[in-house]
Amino acid sequence: MKFTDLGLSAPLLQALTDKGYTSPSPVQEKAIPLVLAGHDLMAAAQTGTGKTAAFVVPMLQRLAEGTRTRDRQVRALVLTPTRELAAQVHQSAVDYGARSELSASVVFGGVKINPQIAKLKRGSDILVATPGRLLDLHQQGAVAFDRVEILVLDEADRMLDMGFIHDIRRIVALMPKKRQTLMFSATFSGEIRRLAEGYLNNPKQVEV
Ligand code: AMP
Repeated sequence: MKFTDLGLSAPLLQALTDKGYTSPSPVQEKAIPLVLAGHDLMAAAQTGTGKTAAFVVPMLQRLAEGTRTRDRQVRALVLTPTRELAAQVHQSAVDYGARSELSASVVFGGVKINPQIAKLKRGSDILVATPGRLLDLHQQGAVAFDRVEILVLDEADRMLDMGFIHDIRRIVALMPKKRQTLMFSATFSGEIRRLAEGYLNNPKQVEV
């Protein structure tokens, strides 16, 4: 299997070549065509499997195919459990999106909020965030969720372990019902499945 078999656009194929990747990993091979087709997705994949590109790459393509919102309101939101992971996912969005017009921002707790408010005011197509800080920013009016087309819950099991369930519920309640939702988790416990049942619409399942 090659990246060219997955339905990816020329700019993304070039970005992957620039990264030095020669072929897709198993999770990428399975997830990328499903996400491009607009399906909701429940994917079991550990860190190190290439799971980040499995959602970031097709997400960038779908955003590039769509229409930018006025004031660059957020169109794709990625929730992660930790600031390290948020920073990593953001860097992936910047790298893979290098040949696109899309912009990406990252926000997480433990640092001053005002620079993040200023950054969000300038607008961003993609926002990567940890749940608590994202809610603070929303309460301060720095970010709106009504134009979100794609929601990704990355490392959902870790977010639950870290006690983010209430924050996640509050955030998802603010999103449009009509959206594409992708959930990545290392394991699929009963709790994760219940979360998926509530948030995913007819999801395709991917396991690696
Ligand atoms: P992740 O599981 O998303 O944390 O990715 C693990 C590592 O694999 C990261 O350093 C990626 O840059 C790298 N990677 C992702 N996809 C590929 C690929 N198709 N070929 C080679 N390396 C990759």
